[in-house]
Amino acid sequence: MTRLFGTNGIRGVVGQDMTADLAVRVGRAIGTHFGSGTVALARDPRLSGPMLARAVAAGLMSSGLEVIDLGMVPTPCAQYYVHTHPGLKGGVVITASHNPREFNGIKALDAQGMEMAREEEEAIETIYFEERYRAADWSGVGDLRSDPGAADAYLRGILAHVDLEAIRKRKLTVVADPANGAGCVTTPYLLRALGCRVLTINGQPDGAFPGRLPEPTVEHLENLMRMVVEAKADLGVAHDGDADRAIFVDETGAFLYGDKSLALLARSELAAHGGLVVTPVSTSSVLEDVVREAGGHLVRTRVGSPIVARTMLAQGAAFGGEENGGIIFPAHQFCRDGGMTLAKMLEVVAKADRPLSKLAASLPQYSLQKQAVEVPVDRREATLEALVGLVKDRKVETIDGVKIYEPDGWVLVRPSGTEPLFRVYAEAKTPERARALAAEGADLVRRAVRA
Ligand code: MG
Repeated sequence: MTRLFGTNGIRGVVGQDMTADLAVRVGRAIGTHFGSGTVALARDPRLSGPMLARAVAAGLMSSGLEVIDLGMVPTPCAQYYVHTHPGLKGGVVITASHNPREFNGIKALDAQGMEMAREEEEAIETIYFEERYRAADWSGVGDLRSDPGAADAYLRGILAHVDLEAIRKRKLTVVADPANGAGCVTTPYLLRALGCRVLTINGQPDGAFPGRLPEPTVEHLENLMRMVVEAKADLGVAHDGDADRAIFVDETGAFLYGDKSLALLARSELAAHGGLVVTPVSTSSVLEDVVREAGGHLVRTRVGSPIVARTMLAQGAAFGGEENGGIIFPAHQFCRDGGMTLAKMLEVVAKADRPLSKLAASLPQYSLQKQAVEVPVDRREATLEALVGLVKDRKVETIDGVKIYEPDGWVLVRPSGTEPLFRVYAEAKTPERARALAAEGADLVRRAVRA
């Protein structure tokens, strides 16, 4: 069966694959799957958001569901709303997260506010492809009401999970760059509640993303990095379009790679409670070192935030996340949360009484190198199989692609989920060694394609 949901919901280019017609049918399928009850609906500020949200709402109501419209809020805010309203069946978020301007998407949430498990997505896909929609009669169609209080409740939820006094006492200066995304309606207010002096860039919601593209990469954050230095700020924070990710800039204006912020936060979380940490197979060894040092245990999963969140829930993890700034604090909720990540990072800086650059420098240092090798989609499975054969006498991990361990580093080779290529990630203590490992990984892919 063809899939409707990808690794992060349904995504597409507006007017081509992401249309009002698709949104109505997806709304009908989700509504039919839930059967009855109430769901929350939210969106990011993309220009097609109002159109797609209304189409999904119409589909949901036509199947008999009641809809609570939360308006334009971050995805983790909608997830928190569902999680803290036990009567709800689930939720729907209209967002394309970090994707460029022309995209939008539909994400379905379960009753815990988590991204739906694959089995539940499959049930919705079956209804959708077989067009087995439930159509309520005149007296059974659902109603729609708004709840403008979701953002405030979400911020109170975050504030309940950090040491407010420790942060407020430091009166930190923070520059926030929400990318004109959904974080505009929460992050500046969160910072103010934490006693910070707040400066923003790209701080008004605008689905045209006039300031920068929504993905918080080093290439897109030049203005933030410059502004942190000019404002003599303690740090800068950037979100993606729906603010479930947070990436930081230190007080010298340097971009802090996501594996480092992940490691700093893991160290702090484990210091209090110890425990299990979950991360994908592609995350840097810096996290492994920090977790081991803190007496914790690290579990690796396939790449993708839903699988990280599910594994954390199943194994009772203390902390988890990805190197792209998507970090999960289970005491708050089992999903990536950019606002919670920001509040926790401020707590780390405030309590350490050392600047962020010094904290990052205290971590074990690694060099990561990336490459890509073209592999036709129809050769993907055969190439992966041949790869496993080529490395069968070595120490490998095959959770997602093939990860080869060497005494002084590792190389991971995995097929891209969206493009006709294999990605190669290599890490070692020196850039030279990481480059050599990456070259070896790329060479193995080229040999496997021909095998
Ligand atoms: Mg996102």
